[in-house]
Amino acid sequence: RTPDLECRMLVLGAGPGGYTAAFRSADLGLDTVLVERYASLGGVCLNVGCIPSKALLHAAAVIDEAAHASDYGIDFGAPKITLDALRAYKDKVVGQLTKGLAGMAKQRKVRVVEGTGRFISANELEVSGKDGAKLIRFEQCIIAAGSQPVKLPAFPWDDPRVMDSTDALELAEIPKKLLVVGGGIIGLEMATVFRALGSEVTVVEFMDQLMPGADTDLIKPLAERLKKQGVAVHLRTKAAQVEAQTHGLKVSFESAEEGKPAAIEAQLFDRVLVAVGRTPNGGKLDADKAGVQISDRGFIPVDRQMRTNVPHIFAIGDLVGQPMLAHKATHEGKLAAEVAAGEKKEWVARVIPSVAYTDPEIAWVGVTETEAKAKGLKVGVGKFPWAASGRAIGLGRTEGFTKLVFDEATHRVIGGGIVGVHAGDLIAEVALAIEMGCEVTDIGHTIHPHPTLSESVGMAAEVYDGTITDLY
Ligand code: FAD
Repeated sequence: RTPDLECRMLVLGAGPGGYTAAFRSADLGLDTVLVERYASLGGVCLNVGCIPSKALLHAAAVIDEAAHASDYGIDFGAPKITLDALRAYKDKVVGQLTKGLAGMAKQRKVRVVEGTGRFISANELEVSGKDGAKLIRFEQCIIAAGSQPVKLPAFPWDDPRVMDSTDALELAEIPKKLLVVGGGIIGLEMATVFRALGSEVTVVEFMDQLMPGADTDLIKPLAERLKKQGVAVHLRTKAAQVEAQTHGLKVSFESAEEGKPAAIEAQLFDRVLVAVGRTPNGGKLDADKAGVQISDRGFIPVDRQMRTNVPHIFAIGDLVGQPMLAHKATHEGKLAAEVAAGEKKEWVARVIPSVAYTDPEIAWVGVTETEAKAKGLKVGVGKFPWAASGRAIGLGRTEGFTKLVFDEATHRVIGGGIVGVHAGDLIAEVALAIEMGCEVTDIGHTIHPHPTLSESVGMAAEVYDGTITDLY
C-alpha cells in the first residue's frame, strides 16, 4: 500500500511531551508529522489538566482573598458567581494557549494530522480521522500518547453525575454536595475549586495521609485549613459503592482497615468526582505491531535516551512512567528529539519537582524526610516557619514553612519541601540547588530579596535544628 504521507519523524500525541518533541525535531531539521486525535493541540495538560485547573484555582483564590479582606477592613460582600462566564474565562485561557501551539506548528512546517493513530508496522502508522484513514510512513517515531483517568469499575459511569477530572473541569454546575474520591493532587485541587465556588465537599482517601508521597508535616497546614473551611476529610476510607438514585448518588463507604466500620455513613451526594490516578495509554496503540514492548500496566519501557526496545522508536511523557507531570514530559520530548536528530545525550535530571496548587500550595523536590529515614540516610533538616516572615505576615498567611534536606556529611542539598502560598514558584530554587550540587550554605549565603517569600529558602538554609547557624 502506498503511504499518503512520508516523514523522517512522526510524533504520536500532541500533549506537552509530543508538541515539544515535534517542535524540537522540526527545529533540528527533521521533516516532522504530528498526529493528534483531537482538533486542539496541547493534550491533557492544556485542554483538561494543568491549565484549566489553574485558571479555576485562580478564581477560587480570588473568592477566598476577598472573603479574607474583611479581616483588614475591606468588605466585598458575598461572591456572585456567573458560571457561564467563569467557564468562558477558563476556555479562553485554554484557547489562547492551544491556538498558540497551532501557530508554532505552522511556523515550523510541522504537518499536523488529526485522527487516531495505530501502528501497522515498525515504520507505518494508520490514522483514522474525519476524512477516513491515512497511512503514514516514518523513519523515526516518538510515542507521546499520554494517559487517562482511572475509572473505578464499580461506579455507574453512564450517569453524568459521576465525574472524572475532565468532566469536573467542564463545570456543568456547582454541586451542592460533592464527594471527591482520592485525596491526591488532582482530587484536592478540584476540592479547592468547588469548595470556593460554594459546594459542600467531602474527600475520602484510602491511604493514611492526603497526598501520599509528600512529607506529613507539609500536609498539616493544608489539612487544618481544609477543616476550617468545612471540607470533611476521611482518611483510610474507601468509597465502596455508588448507586444512582433520582435525587442523588447514594455512596457507601468502607474502612481501609479490615473489620473496622467506616468513619462516614452512607449518604447522598449531588456529584461524585473520582480522582484515584491515571493510567498510561501505551496498550492502545497496537505498538506491538511495531515490535515495541509494553508492560502489563500499559507503560512503555525506555532507556536513558528515551528509546524503546525498537531503536528508531522513542517514547516519552506519562506513558513511560511516574511521575506523570507535564514538565517531565516536555524535558523527555526535547531529549528524544535531540537524540533522534543525532545528538549524543541522555537523561540526566536528578530531580523532578512536584506541586499541588491547593491553598496553601504544597511543593517538594528530591529526597523527602520520610524517604531519607526509610533509606537510613544521615541527613540534616533546615526549617524556617513563615510565622517569622514579614511578607507572610503581611499576606495574612503565616501557616507555611520551608525546609531543606541536606546530606549531613557533605552538606549538599538533596531535597526540600515548601507549604504556603506560591510554594510552587518557590520550589524551583531548591530544584536548581540540587541540580547544581549546592551546599546548604551556598543558599544561606545567597542574598534573597526582602521582603519576599523566597527569603524563607535562604533562612531555611540557616536555621538548623531550630537554631540559626552557619554550618561551617
Ligand atoms: P498527554 O498530555 O496525555 O497527551 C497525549 C496526547 O496524545 C493527547 O492529546 C491524546 O489525545 C493523544 N493521543 C493518545 N492516543 C492517541 C492516538 N492513538 N492517536 C492520536 N492521538 C492520541 N501536570 C503538571 O505538571 N502540573 C499540573 O499542574 C498538572 N495538573 C493536572 C491537572 C489535571 C486535572 C490532570 C488530569 C493532569 C494534570 N497534570 C499536571 C498532568 C499532566 O497533564 C500530564 O502529565 C501531561 O499532560 C502529560 O503529557 P504527555 O505529553 O505525556 O501526554
